[in-house]
Amino acid sequence: MKIAVLGGGVIGLTTAAMLQEEIPNIDITLIASDFANTTSHVAAGIFRVGSSYSGPNEKLTRKPLLSKQISRDWIKYSYDYYDNIKKKTDSSSSGVKDISGYIFSKNSLKIVENHWMQGLVPIYRPAIEEEFDLVQGEWKYGSYYQTLLTDCGIYLPWLTNKLKRNGVKFQERTLNTLGDLGVDYDYAMNCTGLGAREMCKDYRLVSIRGQVLKIKAPWIKFFFYGELDTYIIPGFDGSVTLGGSRSYDSENLQPCPYERAAILERCTNLLPSIKETNIVKEKIGLRPHRENNIRVEAEFLSNGLSNLKVVHNYGHGGYGVCTAPGTVNYAVKLLKDMHKSSVAKL
Ligand SMILES: Cc1cc2nc3c(=O)[nH]c(=O)nc-3n(C[C@H](O)[C@H](O)[C@H](O)COP(=O)(O)OP(=O)(O)OC[C@H]3O[C@@H](n4cnc5c(N)ncnc54)[C@H](O)[C@@H]3O)c2cc1C
Repeated sequence: MKIAVLGGGVIGLTTAAMLQEEIPNIDITLIASDFANTTSHVAAGIFRVGSSYSGPNEKLTRKPLLSKQISRDWIKYSYDYYDNIKKKTDSSSSGVKDISGYIFSKNSLKIVENHWMQGLVPIYRPAIEEEFDLVQGEWKYGSYYQTLLTDCGIYLPWLTNKLKRNGVKFQERTLNTLGDLGVDYDYAMNCTGLGAREMCKDYRLVSIRGQVLKIKAPWIKFFFYGELDTYIIPGFDGSVTLGGSRSYDSENLQPCPYERAAILERCTNLLPSIKETNIVKEKIGLRPHRENNIRVEAEFLSNGLSNLKVVHNYGHGGYGVCTAPGTVNYAVKLLKDMHKSSVAKL
């Protein structure tokens, strides 16, 4: 089986890894415009699926109970997948580690509760009175939980090395359409994130721009959220991500000084100790948000001269790092089903 995996972000690389685990003697070429500067590299990588998350495509969402179950399966599969990597590897090499911390709200208990995370992660409990003193401000509601962090700046190079060792070919190339693949491949897995908008003319994909600041603050051991718009997330080697920002339909890749100032002000109000630090890096990313749902779907493309069987997997919005393994597992199942039915037709 000759497969082109399109996309060098977390979805593409996870796809290549899972295909190798599942299908013996598979010939994989990973194709992407860029492997080093993707949206995935901007993410703090915390495993926190927002309450509004909804995974499956519309064929499945017509049955709300089934749809909810599939979303839950994807999230659980993803958590277990990363947890397994964390247990089996040295965290500083793979970039996957445990993390725990707090979310506080002034207005709503709903903000600090999360129906996807409660019951999934090892600890999710209301914050106790003394824990409110860890941050500044008059917070009314709070939760403490333990989860995982996947730093793509470490995780993707680790995966890349593993894939190269196992024979996956890497090709830096931009495709205008899926037809550009010609007749060289039996199947394609389309993991091009926001790039799928032009490639597949899928205008339900919208960018949600985000800006984050990186500081060095090795004394910060817990993550802190103030409502859902302010976060402080410690990563590796004392590096801490400050956020966040969400600008719908903006594709401006330049750092915005007003957003920088707003992030710094909100984070410093929450945790005054970060006043002592300087910004060491600033990153901008365009979250590949797809209206209503992620597209994990099989498609048969024919232009009269050639046929290509494609499985799409894009549109993960703000949750692509944490939900990658679950959606990829589903996409690989779709590929296997497609293969079985085309073999049966022969
Ligand atoms: C500020 C910010 C913070 C975030 N924090 C988190 C977080 O804490 N946890 C979390 O789970 N998620 C987070 N996210 C979301 C997460 O980053 C994305 O959901 C995820 O990276 C999407 O991965 P992807 O592989 O689909 O896309 P990308 O990482 O964008 O990769 C797409 C790949 O496709 C390639 N490509 C695109 N078009 C073409 C083409 N035409 N031809 C060839 N190649 C092409 C690109 O070069 C790239 O290699 C955050 C995002 C931002 C912006």
